[in-house]
Amino acid sequence: MKTRWRRIRLAQQVKPQAHAQFHKPPRIVILGAGFAGLEVALRLANTALDVVLIDRQNHHTFQPMLHQVATAELEPSQIAYPIRWTLRRAPNVQFVLADVIDTQSTQSWVETSAGRFLYDILVVATGSKPRLSLVPGAEHYAFALKTVSDAVAIHHQVLRCFERALQTADPDQRQGCLTVAIAGGGTTGVELAGAMAEWIQHSLVKDYSQLNCQQIRLVLLHSGPALLPGFKPHLQRYALRHLQKLGVDVYLETRVREVSPTAVHLTDGTDIFTQTVIWTAGVEANLPSRDTGPRLPVLPTLQLESDPQVYALGDVAGDRQSPLPMLASVAAQQGRTVARNIQRQVRGQPLLPFKHQSIGAMAILSRHAAVVQIGCFSATGFVAWVLWLGVHVVLLRGLRHRFLTLLHWGLSYCFRERVSQVLWQPAPVEKPVSLIKQGR
Ligand SMILES: Cc1cc2nc3c(=O)[nH]c(=O)nc-3n(C[C@H](O)[C@H](O)[C@H](O)COP(=O)(O)OP(=O)(O)OC[C@H]3O[C@@H](n4cnc5c(N)ncnc54)[C@H](O)[C@@H]3O)c2cc1C
Repeated sequence: MKTRWRRIRLAQQVKPQAHAQFHKPPRIVILGAGFAGLEVALRLANTALDVVLIDRQNHHTFQPMLHQVATAELEPSQIAYPIRWTLRRAPNVQFVLADVIDTQSTQSWVETSAGRFLYDILVVATGSKPRLSLVPGAEHYAFALKTVSDAVAIHHQVLRCFERALQTADPDQRQGCLTVAIAGGGTTGVELAGAMAEWIQHSLVKDYSQLNCQQIRLVLLHSGPALLPGFKPHLQRYALRHLQKLGVDVYLETRVREVSPTAVHLTDGTDIFTQTVIWTAGVEANLPSRDTGPRLPVLPTLQLESDPQVYALGDVAGDRQSPLPMLASVAAQQGRTVARNIQRQVRGQPLLPFKHQSIGAMAILSRHAAVVQIGCFSATGFVAWVLWLGVHVVLLRGLRHRFLTLLHWGLSYCFRERVSQVLWQPAPVEKPVSLIKQGR
């Protein structure tokens, strides 16, 4: 099998590939139904290919709006689409809810929690994962923001901490409950800090009016000299000023040394007492095996350098020389190229190289404030905010999601209220101190 593929690879590099001997119909297995994997599956819908899409979640997540779920602005269902619903009109695409455990390229199979799947062509699109292992304690005590359940967990944590702050007589514990620390001043950290500040100011402060608002603290920790790396300097300065105006304590050139259950410890010796640390500082490739490692190196056609039977795209893959940023737009564009190349490969036609078309970068800071840069055009404030909302509503899948999102945004815009401030699980039972002392 290996020799056969080596021959095909050589043929691809030299001249249009001769017809490969695929099964009939050829079996394409796609790992991950994120922006990249789902795009491939949808582009291969209603073709003569047998497509299997495997994901450990039954929904696709629109990650750019996770911070709005964490801060009660949107309901989880507005940014999570059931995969089966998305594939209703794709009879040749079978969805499997399973965890991918390993891939075996020499024998062309994938091991999953639902069994083994043979493939003719494999598409690896398992995305990225938060890099929590670099700092002691982060894996155990910090919250990540990558999935809908992460966003819901952050939302619950903040509400629980505010409830706890009302019940405790210990001022240090109360301060820990009322402090939220966000590590990472990239787009995710900045957007989350802005949304969290607004949630606290316009909603939580009213609901928890017995608390002393002066004690509530929101901290953003960033290791670099400026927020939003990759943005133009005037946009970075605007973002910093705006967050500070919202009451966020921004620490630049600050590194986290350790995270403990009650504090975040900085390398300069400062300890910030908090029960809520949210980690947005860096992600790494999420390989479809138990291994960790760098992004999978790919050829311009998005085939693995080591195995042209396998395509890799999205956050998990990267060209060695010039890896593209981990963005939804890159993943979706790559999905289109991979779907086209798979069809060409099956037909024996030469494959096309991927060409990235940058659509710029944007970050929302709060109501009426965002930063946008598209080529040499840049904008801040209201215009940028309208652009951010417009682009994101268009990118959402399905009219129903777009309509509901607009409705929720409209409600929070008009009434400055958050629609989704509910704790879905009962509070863990904590024994009163008097009973513990009596040994009961
Ligand atoms: C909070 C946040 C905000 C962001 N904001 C923006 C933004 O504003 N603009 C932008 O362009 N990008 C943004 N991004 C980045 C963007 O979301 C990613 O670049 C994009 O999701 C990458 O797509 P992907 O298909 O490679 O991976 P993903 O979308 O992450 O999909 C990977 C899929 O693989 C599945 N999977 C992973 N491992 C396994 C396994 N072992 N078994 C089975 N299934 C598995 C996962 O469940 C997931 O469905 C943001 C990301 C985050 C986390």
